[in-house]
Amino acid sequence: MSASTSEGTVPSARALLWTPSDSVRDANRRKIIRAVMAGPGTQVSIARQADLSQATVSTVITELQGEGIVRVDNTEGERGKRVRLGAVRGVAVGVEVNHNGLTVAARRVDTSTVEHESVDFGSDQGGAMWVREAARLIRELAAQTGLDEEHIVSIGIGLPAAVDPRSGAIAQVAASLSWDLSGNPQSRFQDHFPNVPVIVDNEANLAAYGEQVYGAGRGRETMLFVKASTGIGSGLIIGRRIYRGRHGLAGEVGHLTMDPQGIVCRCGNRGCLETVVGGTRLLDQVRQAYAGYRMDLPTSLESMIERAKSGDVVCRRILQDAARTIGVALARVCNVVNPEIVVLGGELGRAADFLVDPLQSSIRLYALRGMFDSGVEPMVVAGSELGLLAGARGALAFALQIDRTVEL
Ligand SMILES: [Zn+2]
Repeated sequence: MSASTSEGTVPSARALLWTPSDSVRDANRRKIIRAVMAGPGTQVSIARQADLSQATVSTVITELQGEGIVRVDNTEGERGKRVRLGAVRGVAVGVEVNHNGLTVAARRVDTSTVEHESVDFGSDQGGAMWVREAARLIRELAAQTGLDEEHIVSIGIGLPAAVDPRSGAIAQVAASLSWDLSGNPQSRFQDHFPNVPVIVDNEANLAAYGEQVYGAGRGRETMLFVKASTGIGSGLIIGRRIYRGRHGLAGEVGHLTMDPQGIVCRCGNRGCLETVVGGTRLLDQVRQAYAGYRMDLPTSLESMIERAKSGDVVCRRILQDAARTIGVALARVCNVVNPEIVVLGGELGRAADFLVDPLQSSIRLYALRGMFDSGVEPMVVAGSELGLLAGARGALAFALQIDRTVEL
């Protein structure tokens, strides 16, 4: 397969990944190139990610090395030589859409530098608006990498909605009435980039995937990632893969019932975790604590966290109690899936230095003790490493793994 372009001898990622071929050998080759594009790794980790035998990976890597498509480090590390991409022209893109904002990440496939930008347009501002804004940012960031939209190889999109893993259609939205449920977001987005594979998933699922590939969950088989912001979502990684369930509703920890007599949630049920520790509820608590005092109150979760960090004992206490309550809910999930690691992400993940301890102590108190005390490696509770970029980076890495020659 020739992958050269008219622009010189640097191969094009599109030619490498999109050239149709039915042969198993070419399909394996594409899988391995995709795995290396997601990030450098050892032959063992690439074999695991591509789901291929080490013998196959070894043969293909030697071939790709000869063509200059991959490079193998000479220094042999503890876990073997690292394989990285050679000079290849292509841009991978990931988008995380939230209710009131979105973040786009773009990376040349042959570098580790991620260009990213966020704007205050999200799903609550309507589909036409966020799709247009995301498309604009994608073009802008692709240009910042030194390439342009003609070099985009894949686009992953995380949405604040449950996405049916079979059809890409939205299975349920918790009360965002401005969502147009009749339109498939994938196909609407495709209008802007007609030739590029676009993959859509729940944003917390993709954030979990991002942490697993690049962050706190690296190398883990099983992970429970919780995205605690205005809403509370989570992503489950089981056997290194995102676990979605039949309707894409797996991992909706924000809607676990914490108090059957509690207040009604935006999902229509009563007493969900989100009604107890969602961002709006926490800001209400600050207002109550300071009622009657003439002072500026935090207006967002972000400003509340800043206040807690700079010594506001009220904000700090409310956030730490919220982490303890989230721990009660996560302990239940831990008893069901027994993860290796629990990762706290979203806005609260930015305050991991004072929230991981109360979260962990609560999980220890309510989950089965064997997870911590059995003598084998105990379960880890940690803060997110990618912060608010987890969703966009996860979307980028996940979309790279879709084989266009098979899927489209
Ligand atoms: Zn709910």
